[in-house]
Amino acid sequence: MAPTHVLRCCQRGLAWIPVIFIALVVCWSYYAYVVELCIFTIPSIGEQIVYLIFFHLSFVMFVWSYWKTIFTKPANPSKEFCLPKAEKERYEKEERPESQQEILWRAASSLPLYTRTGAGAIRYCDRCQVIKPDRCHHCSACDMCVLKMDHHCPWVNNCVGFSNYKFFILFLAYSLVYCLFIAATVLQYFIKFWTNELTDTPAKFHVLFLFFVAAMFCISILSLFSYHLWLVGKNRSTIEAFRAPVFRTGSDKNGFSLGFRKNIAQVFGDQKKYWLLPVFTSQGDGLTFPTRLVNTDVEQATVTLAADITVSPLSESQNRLLSNEQHANNVGDHLANNTLKSGESQQGCYCYTDRVSC
Ligand SMILES: [Zn+2]
Ligand SMILES: [Zn+2]
Repeated sequence: MAPTHVLRCCQRGLAWIPVIFIALVVCWSYYAYVVELCIFTIPSIGEQIVYLIFFHLSFVMFVWSYWKTIFTKPANPSKEFCLPKAEKERYEKEERPESQQEILWRAASSLPLYTRTGAGAIRYCDRCQVIKPDRCHHCSACDMCVLKMDHHCPWVNNCVGFSNYKFFILFLAYSLVYCLFIAATVLQYFIKFWTNELTDTPAKFHVLFLFFVAAMFCISILSLFSYHLWLVGKNRSTIEAFRAPVFRTGSDKNGFSLGFRKNIAQVFGDQKKYWLLPVFTSQGDGLTFPTRLVNTDVEQATVTLAADITVSPLSESQNRLLSNEQHANNVGDHLANNTLKSGESQQGCYCYTDRVSC
């Protein structure tokens, strides 16, 4: 076996250590809560039953969302983002960056791309040999391009991106609920053990640690969860929060923001009954995303600004829809008219790759 292959296998094995650590802590917390607290410490049967029902509800939702975050494969760019064989050979032989860009521009002409590199070039991954779709980034840990990559999370040993971002948010939410529930219900017994109101038993050790561990996790998860809720509201990934995506007109941190309600729907879907379940309901295909076509900040726009809104020159977009100039003009008229008529400039108008909605 080649040394690099062995090293790679070792790295993959070591990467599971944080997940195993969390799994062990969760298993211990289950034992400590159910056996040591509910069965050995709490005297009231009624209290035991109520605690156990709510504990198991939060436990199941937490484990379910954690499982889905870990084992949902990151989504990769589809075949149409790979260069055709002949073009790829030409690209590899070509040494001049300008000529390589020419090849990429030609290949990208039929693709729905809005974002560019900081220098205005087509985003290409040399490692995966693929034109990167909007919001897609290469993860060096997973060694692949990941659609709408948010970050690589060691605690789930997986990339958090388009395919599992909703699961990740729910994992944070349910782990917070799980820890809060434990901390809140354990508190009175924690105090009783601490003040010697309850006699010393092995349960004392578990109950004391249960409270400390739950409180510690609560604090750390709360900050991360709040940050990701803020990102969902803005329709930004963690990567985009640090480095704004670059569009034809320049970088725009709100380039994918559609207004608060639509931003939420992008991740959680438009059917509220599925929002709290770790089942995939995110909108779109991860390859293309609605972008703002108006040169205003949708979050600051007012009705009075509507008359000044200029529609981006759609014909320059490399979008399948937008290659049809007549259609693009209609889209422009449609956008301008609707913005002026409806007075919904706060929501703005957005173009999906194959449809326009206001
Ligand atoms: Zn890549
Ligand atoms: Zn990754």
